[in-house]
Amino acid sequence: MQELGNGVSQMEAHDPAENSLFENMVRVEHDLSDVINALALLGVKRCSQCKQFFRTADPGALFENGHTVCYKCVPEWWSSMSTRLGITERERIEAKLASWLRKHHRAEVVKKTPGKDPDTANTEFQMVAKCVECAGSGKLMEGERCRFCNGFGTVRIVVPK
Ligand SMILES: [Zn+2]
Ligand SMILES: [Zn+2]
Repeated sequence: MQELGNGVSQMEAHDPAENSLFENMVRVEHDLSDVINALALLGVKRCSQCKQFFRTADPGALFENGHTVCYKCVPEWWSSMSTRLGITERERIEAKLASWLRKHHRAEVVKKTPGKDPDTANTEFQMVAKCVECAGSGKLMEGERCRFCNGFGTVRIVVPK
């Protein structure tokens, strides 16, 4: 009984200000998660990299593929992500990313030219992607060299500055 008595008196001695601070924090956390849920309902999502919020109504703002990444974070995210993925998964996301960049960020398909280094001076972002015309084989159906990628099987997707 004495132990219990001590426990109770210790609880009572606990600083009441500290208790109400804790209660406030719990309430704020609860409110915040309510707000994030409400934002999702309104079509606002958060970039998984920079944690900023973007409107999903703007299709060029966020690239969604299982990960949600804003346009600004895409270059860094893709350079680390592409090295970590298996080839099938990488090609799948790479194709999606390439078409998203072409659709929403004026990206152009640039074929490699033998003996010529790519000009990157006016490039905001670029990535290498499988040529969709020859499915990466470098050859067209008749066996001739694919003219869309000069037979390399890959092209550069370039977002101009
Ligand atoms: Zn971001
Ligand atoms: Zn090709």
